[in-house]
Amino acid sequence: MSTYPQSYQAFYVEKTAEGFKRSVQSLNPEALPQGEVLIEVHYSSLNYKDALSASGNPGVTRNYPHTPGIDAAGVVLHSSNDRFQQGDEVIVTSYDLGMNTWGGFADLIRIPAAWVVPLPKGLSLKESMMLGTAGLTAAMSLEALLENGITPEMGAVVVSGATGGVGSAAVALLAKAGFKVIASTGKANAHDMLKSIGASEVINRDELNQDEKRPMIKPRFAAAIDTVGGKTLETIIKSLNVNGAVAACGLVGGADLQLTVFPFILRGIRLLGIDSEKYSYAKRVALWQKLATGWKVDLSPINREIGLTELEDAIAAILKGQIQGHVLVKVR
Ligand code: NDP
Repeated sequence: MSTYPQSYQAFYVEKTAEGFKRSVQSLNPEALPQGEVLIEVHYSSLNYKDALSASGNPGVTRNYPHTPGIDAAGVVLHSSNDRFQQGDEVIVTSYDLGMNTWGGFADLIRIPAAWVVPLPKGLSLKESMMLGTAGLTAAMSLEALLENGITPEMGAVVVSGATGGVGSAAVALLAKAGFKVIASTGKANAHDMLKSIGASEVINRDELNQDEKRPMIKPRFAAAIDTVGGKTLETIIKSLNVNGAVAACGLVGGADLQLTVFPFILRGIRLLGIDSEKYSYAKRVALWQKLATGWKVDLSPINREIGLTELEDAIAAILKGQIQGHVLVKVR
């Protein structure tokens, strides 16, 4: 029988007359939402969505006070569900965690058992959060390309937003799977870093951000993982080889698409939408297994570790697109 914690530390966002106020506070666990599994969180990671939640974006979080954090990895303290026992190491990513359920920027979370994935053998809690939702989304994108018949023999795969959390994990995972990877970035000083994690070639993001009126342009990529959206996704779709595919997961560059049907009906292009939040539990467990074994990549060169008190600055930086790589949050 474990003792129930008397207090816990949380990054706490309050709505005040002057705007949204963020601080690290000691709270009573009674304040946590009801749930079957109480988890002592060791690591989390910072995602763009967390920054939106921490700054009052109603599309992500409606009710405040709130603790963001869509990722958490830790140890089960209590479980009323037989699937989990005290001491089990577990991972939780997305579902409603950190959105309208208090999330992983705290050393305790209480959630439904249906959201909890056992930590696979071969991955530590820290390594799982070096990936986080960003890494899992990159893995979902790779899986979608493979399921749609994309193979390394077909040619190079381009990754947009390559220095971001999803993009950098996508570069490393594609390279591990044997693909020639072209990384697209806006950061001139990041070329060496991108090559160190597996990019064969690095291009300036302007090459994929063209005001191109033609419905299709010269084909140059077999496939793509796009984290940017908008004009970048338009340019990618217009430049894919016959039978190419793009896994589209992000919108940092815009949500609109101005396209014709020609790339789809004259080149057989597939546009594969990726939604990490509603990804099935069974496929999620299987992907974590792959990430712990055959798809295991070392993301330590692109991860910067911070504590709860450093989140405020990191949130401001990710909102300005200034983060290079991924931010690992050491919660306890
Ligand atoms: P990051 O902020 O870590 O990275 C985004 C990267 O995009 C930046 O590092 C930068 O890379 C590039 N970028 C930033 N601003 C622009 C711009 N205006 N035009 C072109 N490129 C830009 O974010 P994440 O990697 O965590 O997330 C990327 C996207 O994926 C977000 O939109 C996020 O919401 C989405 N996402 C979606 C998920 C899903 O389930 N569909 C899950 C997780 C994330 P560089 O300088 O190298 O070009």
